[in-house]
Amino acid sequence: MKIKKIGIIGLGHVGEAVIKSLRKYSGLISRRTPLKIVVKKVCDKDKAKRKIAKKLGCSFTSSPQELIDDPQIDIIVELMGGIKPAGDFIQEALKKGKDVVTANKALLATSGKQIFSLAKRKNRSIGFEASVCGAIPLIKSISQGLVSCEVKKIYGILNGTTNYILYKMAKERIDFKQALRQAQDNGLAERSPYLDIEGKDALHKLCILSYLCYGVWPLQNKIYTEGISKISLLDILYAQELNYRIKLLAIAKKEKGVLDLRVQPTLVSMEHPLSHVSLAYNAVYLHTQPAGELLFRGEGAGGVPTSSAVISDIVSIASGKGMAIRDEEKGVIQNIKDARARYYIRFMAQDHPGVLAKISKILSSLNISIASVTQKERNKGRVVPIIMLTHEAREDSVRKALTEIDSLGVIKGPSQRIRIEDL
Ligand code: NAP
Repeated sequence: MKIKKIGIIGLGHVGEAVIKSLRKYSGLISRRTPLKIVVKKVCDKDKAKRKIAKKLGCSFTSSPQELIDDPQIDIIVELMGGIKPAGDFIQEALKKGKDVVTANKALLATSGKQIFSLAKRKNRSIGFEASVCGAIPLIKSISQGLVSCEVKKIYGILNGTTNYILYKMAKERIDFKQALRQAQDNGLAERSPYLDIEGKDALHKLCILSYLCYGVWPLQNKIYTEGISKISLLDILYAQELNYRIKLLAIAKKEKGVLDLRVQPTLVSMEHPLSHVSLAYNAVYLHTQPAGELLFRGEGAGGVPTSSAVISDIVSIASGKGMAIRDEEKGVIQNIKDARARYYIRFMAQDHPGVLAKISKILSSLNISIASVTQKERNKGRVVPIIMLTHEAREDSVRKALTEIDSLGVIKGPSQRIRIEDL
């Protein structure tokens, strides 16, 4: 039996769950691998965590450097989160010849390029399974199970909080603020939920998938990112009538050398399994060649489920089967203005004769053709919603058209546009 010693930085939700799961499942691990994983020391900046460490049977320090300098520690497990100083600790650990496991998507999306190239130079491994979709073994499935496959398209529900909010809005017919409050009360959303609801968390995970599938670390500010805070109950209900659900999707497609990467609320047909991913679950739908279409679904967060992904990395690296660090490739990122999609558009218009003609004229002048129009409520002279589905159109043209239409006197309030993906 080989003994491997690890040091954990960050005794929070995930850190504590990793230590507990390592203990609970140590028998299972040693039946499956000739390994014994020992937590040599755990570190947290909050000195009050010493008590928790003691209860877990671990020795404690508040100095990450102590772990990094310890020659007996083989693997540093970074579970403190944040960009600085987590990135410095990881780089120092790699320079000291240690392998690293991290769940830190924000850090990898920002500094993955430097961290992975340092690991490659130092011939070290980095495990990052827990950084995308918590417990779902997506990283290993792509890097090992699909090693001979091209990933043509990725459609991911990568953020559980936003999926929960959209699901609750539809299910209970409540508005965004009420659903967000429910998510916060159930511990599924932070008190400052910006990273989740504005799509930033999904963006971080999309950057990691872009590297994994295409070898490209994209600049975050080059990726179109739109959250769900502007999605109204009205849109959810109209989408449902049209046989769609609204999901926050992270999308990646590679065509003719150009990478189309974006995070956006999206109309997904109710016929598609992604539209049925409920509550705070995550799911990823891959189009690959030659493996075809694949769907992964599971717990995307939570200390206990996520501990499984962290331990999987620890065991792989300890067994000498750490993921090979893939080469980087050059990638051109498509400008969202050039993207083409079908659109759901909602106008709030005064119910006057000739309004539809005015809207249609502007759309057609920008080569946007209408597939269907719904105006159910009639209320002469009052403001009513008009819903249009378009045929495929250029994003730039749609933006221009909506700016022009919104300036018409008969339009009251900004129009809504949501892209439709035919998955
Ligand atoms: P957490 O509960 O906030 O735990 C982080 C711990 O690290 C806290 O105790 C924190 O102390 C400590 N810490 C912060 N800075 C430190 C430093 N400089 N030195 C030592 N300790 C430090 O976070 P978490 O939810 O466990 O998440 C950890 C990582 O896993 C993050 O990168 C997160 O994105 C990722 N992740 C989390 C989940 C999840 O469901 N929670 C799922 C997937 C991935 P203070 O509290 O005093 O700041």
